[in-house]
Amino acid sequence: MVQAFLIKYSEIGIKGKNRYMFEDALRDRVAEKLKKCEGTFAVQRENGRIYVEAKSEYDYEEVMEQLTKCFGIAHICPVVLIEDKSFAHICRELVAHMEEEIGSRPFTFKVFAKRSDKQYERTSPEICQDAGAYILEHMPNAKVDVHHPEVSVNIEIRHRAYVYVTSIKGPGGMPVGTSGRSMLLLSGGIDSPVAGYMMAKRGVRIEAVYFHAPPYTSERAKQKVIDLAEIVSDYAGEIRLHIVNFTDIQMYIYENCPHDELTIIMRRYMMKIAERIAGETECMSLVTGESVGQVASQTMQSLVATNAVCTMPVFRPVIAFDKQDIIDIAEKIGTFETSIQPYEDCCTIFVAKHPVTRPDCAAIEKSEQRLAEKIDEMLECAISDREIVTVRK
Ligand code: ATP
Ligand code: MG
Repeated sequence: MVQAFLIKYSEIGIKGKNRYMFEDALRDRVAEKLKKCEGTFAVQRENGRIYVEAKSEYDYEEVMEQLTKCFGIAHICPVVLIEDKSFAHICRELVAHMEEEIGSRPFTFKVFAKRSDKQYERTSPEICQDAGAYILEHMPNAKVDVHHPEVSVNIEIRHRAYVYVTSIKGPGGMPVGTSGRSMLLLSGGIDSPVAGYMMAKRGVRIEAVYFHAPPYTSERAKQKVIDLAEIVSDYAGEIRLHIVNFTDIQMYIYENCPHDELTIIMRRYMMKIAERIAGETECMSLVTGESVGQVASQTMQSLVATNAVCTMPVFRPVIAFDKQDIIDIAEKIGTFETSIQPYEDCCTIFVAKHPVTRPDCAAIEKSEQRLAEKIDEMLECAISDREIVTVRK
């Protein structure tokens, strides 16, 4: 029976001090994931690997579901732990496990052995040879292939014996928390949840901000964004979502600025507010779901005009993705169905029929001067009155 999981990671360039940071973070993230599962588990870091051992009854599928969403994991190997290390016993347990995992289909294999117990009754090459012979004798569907085996049979002799033959692909990436913290501008659309997921995959801790405009946008629209944050948090870990009431600012822009510049001016104030909140919450950068050329507010000129108000770096992980490629990821991570629910977005409500597609920064700044009287105070209010919701799956 599988009582343990060997977790392998693969990232080049994690050396020295960084390696410990990476491994400790991965151990912590794995432990957090397993807390959501029934049962108790011991998670240990050892020789460039993480071992998970079940200390009680547990649900295999549930554990796999959690571990395959834990960034930093390259492979997960379900392990059979064998207390009685006599070689004959190990061979019996090994073949029983292989029959369960592989069944009766023909397969090729190679045995790999490691031993930290140097007193053991056989050397590593002897373990490989003798276990290989035992498998051939007891499994008529088995054939040796030392160059390209379909099944790698691993036997490790420690204080107990560890046996594993299966390797399940993990999600890759880096453990969340190893690459700093970013403020994600999270709307109810398809793109920004994907952008947040992609940054989290590189180890970035996500904080999020959503601009809503009640009563023009509904409670349902806001709930949809909370739901999206929750789905992303299944991968990214806990997310603090800052909900900013944007109605007054939006109305003020609408009343004072040319309507064809409305979207771009609004986007600039969103970025400003996001950057302010980022500064207050130890974020070092901003993240958006912008993709070049997708809509008028995402032409190269519009992106330049939006970017111009920020001093923090703005990361746009889907900038060069086609819509369909973004949708494919949204479907894979489970945000798509929620994203396409038809609730109004604050950007679309006052949108002009023919928005500028090549905004000129100087012209935009000139229009913004018409907001000079009240805008600073309005920004302060919006920031200080924000609602903060902590979401976790
Ligand atoms: P998305 O699918 O992410 O909503 P979109 O294609 O609808 O993207 P826009 O509405 O132009 O694009 O928004 C571009 C980006 O600006 C979004 O990806 C998001 O990062 C940010 N954004 C837009 N509206 C909001 C909002 N109401 N609250 C927070 N961020 C927003
Ligand atoms: Mg949108």
